[in-house]
Amino acid sequence: MSKFLSKRHDNINVYVPGEQPKDKDYIRLNTNESPYPPSPKVIERINAAEINNLKVYSDHSALVLRKKLADLHGLKSENIVITNGSDEALNFFFLAFCDETTPLVFPDITYGFYKVFADFYHIPYEQIPLNEDFSINVDDYCGINKNIIIANPNAPSGLLLPLEDIERIVATNPNNVVLIDEAYTDFCGQSAYKLTEKYDNLLVVQTFSKSRFLAGARLGFAIGSREIIHSLDIIRNCTNPYNVNHMTLLAGEASIDDNEYYMEKCREIMKTREYTTKKLREMGAVLNDSNGNFVFVKLPGVDAAKAYDTLKENAILVRYFNTPRTKDYLRVTIGTKEQMDKFLAIIADIMKV
Ligand SMILES: *Cc1c(COP(=O)(O)O)cnc(C)c1O
Repeated sequence: MSKFLSKRHDNINVYVPGEQPKDKDYIRLNTNESPYPPSPKVIERINAAEINNLKVYSDHSALVLRKKLADLHGLKSENIVITNGSDEALNFFFLAFCDETTPLVFPDITYGFYKVFADFYHIPYEQIPLNEDFSINVDDYCGINKNIIIANPNAPSGLLLPLEDIERIVATNPNNVVLIDEAYTDFCGQSAYKLTEKYDNLLVVQTFSKSRFLAGARLGFAIGSREIIHSLDIIRNCTNPYNVNHMTLLAGEASIDDNEYYMEKCREIMKTREYTTKKLREMGAVLNDSNGNFVFVKLPGVDAAKAYDTLKENAILVRYFNTPRTKDYLRVTIGTKEQMDKFLAIIADIMKV
């Protein structure tokens, strides 16, 4: 490390993305990407004429995309801010609403980036343990007077809190911001965005990475009251006003124009998820019903780290989190049925069934 790196960053923990090895043609079931391509409308939209338009700056207000998203959700453009992946929406949340005097809480087992941001910005935080079965104890979050982040559905558990519980958490913490990270909303059909009309302390974050097949384009957004969105926009304008590139904005617009394509493909992924769940259970594996495009599975009698290695040797990547509470599990993205059959065949072999 360079001697010039600020002392502020001593002992820093960086986010570790899912691996992307290039030595063979892997089936990637490790980062919750889609096995399907973006809609043909997206591909049409990214053309030579638009590449020529890269000579000018992108629309810093992302007006067209905000309007399309607002229409889709029955909201106004002023209720939406567009971000460079939803990770940037998280970053804006930390910069806008979190500081040394405003503590933060989130579950002990959840998306790893929350902890990375909290450490990076030196925000006092607490990781509230999930129940034994990875469910959230809602009372832990009610009336606590702290900022809150909850991924809903949570990852990697795949478990979903019903809207009544979300509302109770939001309503009982009126002086703090509650961020609901809905990266997987389209795989369960539930979203809390309507509650943003009633509660000015609720921020709902969504992404185009998981259910709109644009992970590489880096596109996300946040929904909230006019005031809360304005606060995020101040951060955006102070750090990176042209935060989303022109091609990505076009891809996002075209994907909203072809909404039905995505909803149909998401239904397909959900069908493959139920199929995979059933097959795994038949082999004796233990897993919850997932609300995301992944399953979180325990293989009794099998060392999960070894199963991960065996899958990788067979050109299938899955995610293994080596922490005390998750070390017996694999998180497996739902691919096509053909991909899942290959995965299931190797699991059957590992479990000798
Ligand atoms: C994938 C994921 C993100 C990050 O998504 P990007 O939009 O690609 O930055 C955020 N939160 C959760 C819970 C995720 O699973």
